Amino acid sequence: MERPGGSERNRWCRVTTTDDLKSLDVRKLARNAGLANQSFRVEWMSGDEYTGSIDVKTSRQAIELNYRIKTFDFWRVCEQVVSLVYTSCHFGRKRPWFSCPGCLSRCAILYLGGSGFACRVCYGLLYRSQTLSKLDRYLYQRVALEKRLYGDEGCFKPGVHSRTRSRVWEKYMALQEKISTELMG
Ligand SMILES: [Zn+2]
Repeated sequence: MERPGGSERNRWCRVTTTDDLKSLDVRKLARNAGLANQSFRVEWMSGDEYTGSIDVKTSRQAIELNYRIKTFDFWRVCEQVVSLVYTSCHFGRKRPWFSCPGCLSRCAILYLGGSGFACRVCYGLLYRSQTLSKLDRYLYQRVALEKRLYGDEGCFKPGVHSRTRSRVWEKYMALQEKISTELMG
């Protein structure tokens, strides 16, 4: 499928609605499956209704996504390759990030809109022309909490008291619940 960028970005964003947003979190993929030479399937449900599935093939450099999404009554087959980049953490560990197919910036979470996966900033361009929805506010709050937990480099911040960290973590989990509820409609 075509990659967005430059003049294509408007087309990329226009077809998106917040109701359709599904997401992929690179940290979950790394934790659950590892990122080297794995293949697995993720299925999406909205309430009891099956709304799509995604086959993920991973390597250290990129993930390959093959998925079907339902737009109105039509199913579409999509293919997308997302590059991975790494930053150094403490103790010589490396942290993976997606390179957003829309703007090539480093991000932990990609959201699926009508034309494919892209970061919240890419889809944020769309939000600006609309009333800020409850979901948008939650997504921005989540980014702020992620910064408190992981810092800019995406590693657990050293020096943050563990009780403070678990309080922020609790807030984060509560917010995740709210986001899931919003996405379920
Ligand atoms: Zn982007």
